[in-house]
Amino acid sequence: MNRPHNPSAVNERAARPLSGRYSAWRLLREGLGGQRGWSRAWAKAEPRARYRVLIIGGGGHGLATAFYLATEYGIGDVAVLERGPIGLGNVGRNTTIIRSNYFRPENVRFYEFSLKLWEGLERRLNFNTMVSQRGTLNLFHTEAQRDLFTRRANLMRLLGVDAEPQSREEVKARVPLVDLDNGRYPVLGGFLQPRGGTVRHDAVAWGYARAASEAGVDIVEHCEVTGIGREGSKVTGVQTRRGFIGADTVCLAVAGHSSHLARMAGLRLPIESHVLQAFVTEAVKPVIDVVLTYGAGHFYINQSDKGGLVYGGAIDGYNSYGQRGTLPMAEEVAAAAMTLLPGLARLKVLRQWGGVMDMTMDGSPIISHTPLEGLILNGGWCYGGFKAIPAGGLTTAHLVARGEPHPLAAHLNLDRFAAGRTVDERGAGPFPYLH
Ligand SMILES: Cc1cc2nc3c(=O)[nH]c(=O)nc-3n(C[C@H](O)[C@H](O)[C@H](O)COP(=O)(O)OP(=O)(O)OC[C@H]3O[C@@H](n4cnc5c(N)ncnc54)[C@H](O)[C@@H]3O)c2cc1C
Repeated sequence: MNRPHNPSAVNERAARPLSGRYSAWRLLREGLGGQRGWSRAWAKAEPRARYRVLIIGGGGHGLATAFYLATEYGIGDVAVLERGPIGLGNVGRNTTIIRSNYFRPENVRFYEFSLKLWEGLERRLNFNTMVSQRGTLNLFHTEAQRDLFTRRANLMRLLGVDAEPQSREEVKARVPLVDLDNGRYPVLGGFLQPRGGTVRHDAVAWGYARAASEAGVDIVEHCEVTGIGREGSKVTGVQTRRGFIGADTVCLAVAGHSSHLARMAGLRLPIESHVLQAFVTEAVKPVIDVVLTYGAGHFYINQSDKGGLVYGGAIDGYNSYGQRGTLPMAEEVAAAAMTLLPGLARLKVLRQWGGVMDMTMDGSPIISHTPLEGLILNGGWCYGGFKAIPAGGLTTAHLVARGEPHPLAAHLNLDRFAAGRTVDERGAGPFPYLH
């Protein structure tokens, strides 16, 4: 195998320029000084021949895992290998929603842990990720759905998580645009999680990358992994477009490409890749100051700080690695929007895009050892991996560093599919399009 690595990279790492502390005082000082004192937010590292830990994928989970490995577990001999520039995968393509309103206790605990980490993240990273706890409001449209949402809210409250019932009148007062008595699915009420909200998605990638780089992690962009090295059942490193890189532990954090990368190691995962679309309209004055979800179909919407309405729906109904999506799903999502919020009908859609989703057979993620020694998997995030980034990163770092699952993520192991202990939040069965 070829080894074209730069031997001086170790010294470069020691001499890495730091971006310094960001603050209002610094902004003022740099403004007065002609903006000449800024340096790169994260170092453009050259890969070395060997690391203790290699993380494949510079998305939210890969970067967060690297950050927590270096800062919580004292393992700084880490590289994140990203095939393009960081932040262009799902971490920068999602609809930015964070929440912890789940039905199963183990999921509530995991996502609530993540929400608590979001609440302190900007201070921890010294980076403005625009965490906005504007609330998430889930609407219901039938009595059966009211029962289901009430049970979920009761469970959340028993676990110390915020959940508040909302009458029709309260829904209307909070979001006047909602057509409560729409002919198809009249709104009967809602449940609000006041601490839910949004976070500026690409700032999350930049913030973790900067903090991980300052903690000594090498972030290697434009370094696609093309193979996984093995000696028997032990992983020895990865083959990349820039040569072979050895490692004690390799962690896959490639979201929609999980099954593709696992196949390079000879593994087959219970994951399918599907495209999920998102849309943004032209900017308007503030009209929705909460994250709103429709209960009679798959539709969610929030307003960005620039004024555009950001919305999405369900995955397209076929497997794909495309990042665009198709018109039938765009029409279905628009129909849901018009049922619930007919006042938006004349807004123009400015942009539409897609991301490759790693859909598991039970709708829950995987943070786990694999049958191969030294190969760890973080993946299967389905619709909800953005909000899970802090908890996913920390619990994956725990698994790598300690060799055993973090107690909050122990239920997310890979064995559960073979053992029949699936974590099926919706009880929908092994059908990705139903999760
Ligand atoms: C349209 C859309 C809306 C969404 N909305 C929400 C939401 O509102 N809330 C929420 O919680 N979740 C949401 N999600 C899901 C969430 O974005 C993902 O689950 C999460 O971002 C996935 O984790 P990640 O950030 O690590 O993935 P990614 O950012 O996709 O990171 C994986 C990285 O691996 C890299 N990679 C792949 N193959 C290789 C290789 N061979 N070598 C090197 N690198 C490789 C990719 O380039 C990519 O950068 C949404 C997703 C989409 C697509």
